[in-house]
Amino acid sequence: MKYVLIFAFSFLYLSNLIAQESPSFLVLERKTRSNKTTFRKVYLEDLESAKSFDGKFFKIVKGKSNEAIHFDDSDNQLVTKAATVYHHLTLARKFWRDEIDASVKQKIGKLIIRLEIKNLYDELGHFANDNRTPQFNNAVSIPAGKTPDWLPSDRQSQWNNEIWFRPMKKVETKDLQGIGPNPLTVSLTTLEEPFLNYTRNQFNQSLIEHIFYPTYAANPLWMDVIRFAGTIALTKAVIEGSKHTDRLFIEKYYYLDTAMVPEVIYHEYAHVVLSDYLEMSHSTPVVEGLADYYAAAIAKKKTIYARVKGHSNAAGKETQSRQNYSHWYESNRAATSDFVLSVLWDVREVLGDKTANELVFEARTHLNTNTATINHHLIQSILDACDMKCSSPRRDKLKLYEAFGKKGF
Ligand SMILES: [Zn+2]
Repeated sequence: MKYVLIFAFSFLYLSNLIAQESPSFLVLERKTRSNKTTFRKVYLEDLESAKSFDGKFFKIVKGKSNEAIHFDDSDNQLVTKAATVYHHLTLARKFWRDEIDASVKQKIGKLIIRLEIKNLYDELGHFANDNRTPQFNNAVSIPAGKTPDWLPSDRQSQWNNEIWFRPMKKVETKDLQGIGPNPLTVSLTTLEEPFLNYTRNQFNQSLIEHIFYPTYAANPLWMDVIRFAGTIALTKAVIEGSKHTDRLFIEKYYYLDTAMVPEVIYHEYAHVVLSDYLEMSHSTPVVEGLADYYAAAIAKKKTIYARVKGHSNAAGKETQSRQNYSHWYESNRAATSDFVLSVLWDVREVLGDKTANELVFEARTHLNTNTATINHHLIQSILDACDMKCSSPRRDKLKLYEAFGKKGF
């Protein structure tokens, strides 16, 4: 009895302590068996401040500020957003720590997470000028850096890896040209209808774009935009379930509040972890596919980036998309397609979660950020990684060959 009492009291004491030291917050989560979202009260872990979102591993700030957002900030939505980002980053960090046998994870210093930041990233100055192309509806992970030595001392600064979440903005779909891969094209190319396969094979990509999206096709800026604007400039957005190629079926507005979509948070954190080999400032189909894979592995969802009421009307990416390989997927414009994700998901279905998680992580060491192709480098890197991580490489590589064969490789 005595011990029971001691136990009960220490339990009460401890829970009090936890309640005092880590305040609870409403955070947005997906429900277990659906993509619907809900708000739940959670305790945030590893906070180091009693007043603000400043923790052992993450500090959440607003815009260019370096001061953590306060718990009692007058902007309630900003507080919920900060708590949501902090919570999901904590989950992502635990996944990498517990699920993947990786030593790199310890080297990730404390990350500054910027919400509502519109500036472009500037390799030499951290933040580009406020007036230069303000950014919305995307997120980007930025590499550690410092200002050049020749700058005067009052302008010197350095920074660790950071993740930036841009403000959400409702954009008229017709005005989308020039801010990322044309979502219509991406959707067209991922539809499985015979007509569209026929179209894709008969006409080249630019012709499709001229037919369906003439203003977009005229804009030559896309490459620059992908490099600088963000890693999820646009997910497979706007035309959810577009069985129709008619413009009338396209949603009138597009918006994506990246800080309120759990898988976007996992995706960006994955870029940071993978960045020892894959540079964060480059967005290619292979690099994006790897980050998508871990976003889906952490989320445990078949569809990731699915719409979040009031925060995103993106259509999401399917882990089990049954598309066959096409050269089009190698183009940087296909960086938002779900093809690479579906290839990596096959690895998971063939070899199991644990092996696939480690194998995909190992594969990054065989890949080059800029030049890795899906058809050659990605497939080869997975087979090479299997030599190191598979329990029975000969048998497992045969299984992988078979799975890749079904994908049209
Ligand atoms: Zn990305």
